[in-house]
Amino acid sequence: MDVKKDASAVGVGVPSETQLQQINALAKGNLTAEQVYVFSVRLCDDQVDRDFERFDTEALPELARLFVGKSGIVDHRWSAGSQLARIFAAEAVQEEGVSYIKAWAYIRRGGAGDEWIADIEAGIKKEVSVGCSMGRSVCSVCGADYGTCGHRKGEIYEDTPCCAILREPVDAYEFSFVAVPAQRDAGVLKGMGRKADLKALADEFGAQEEYRSLWKLARMGQEYQKQLGAEVVRLTLMLGLKVEEPILRGAVEKLAGAELVSLRDALREQAAEQYPLQLQLGTVRGEEALESEYLI
Ligand SMILES: [Zn+2]
Repeated sequence: MDVKKDASAVGVGVPSETQLQQINALAKGNLTAEQVYVFSVRLCDDQVDRDFERFDTEALPELARLFVGKSGIVDHRWSAGSQLARIFAAEAVQEEGVSYIKAWAYIRRGGAGDEWIADIEAGIKKEVSVGCSMGRSVCSVCGADYGTCGHRKGEIYEDTPCCAILREPVDAYEFSFVAVPAQRDAGVLKGMGRKADLKALADEFGAQEEYRSLWKLARMGQEYQKQLGAEVVRLTLMLGLKVEEPILRGAVEKLAGAELVSLRDALREQAAEQYPLQLQLGTVRGEEALESEYLI
């Protein structure tokens, strides 16, 4: 499967003698130290990311090897002028218990290259996203191929959060400078990352107060959605419908508010017929109170 992740670039400057040799081996030319600018890119690591995925530590050295020679482009668009940088060395390194791929790339000085170099130096072109293809992803809880076992990424099973471990590197693609983080592809525009981006924008444009009140509303909405989901699960199990709980929870997660409400209502109706007493004594009253609390 193809995987796309965020990374970051750090400006360095003039290449060392060894680096220049590596660059020239790749460029099939005779570039001098003055003609190139070198920077480092932190590619993938082995920590769980916001998609609840992580690269297998063992897979990193091979993946690093696959990145050597790959190009750096802008916003994942290929065009004649877009190939700006190239990775000439990459290795898996370990720092404070985290393994990651550290890559070295160069840009030719002059023309459009100089603008990019200035932006990297200034920290403007820091955001990088990388793509690669991995042969397998396995469940961190049970080791089965992810998607075949019923465990779901992000869920917690007996204190162990489930994630997908990406294994068996197949290929590495280009890396891309992402000019505006908000314009990243849809795959990245989800989960916690988006929250952080929105916050940064609010800080930048003085909309902190609005951001904070929206954030509070969103939290209440999430809480309400969670409770709706929990009730749907509870009612389904209570009615004895033959659905395994992890699968049921996974399905409920995918539903939006209005769908959850109608499903919940249908289940309540069914449950009221089967267990009239239980429902009266149950949580219905409390949750109605909660619902009206969230009607804003
Ligand atoms: Zn599993």
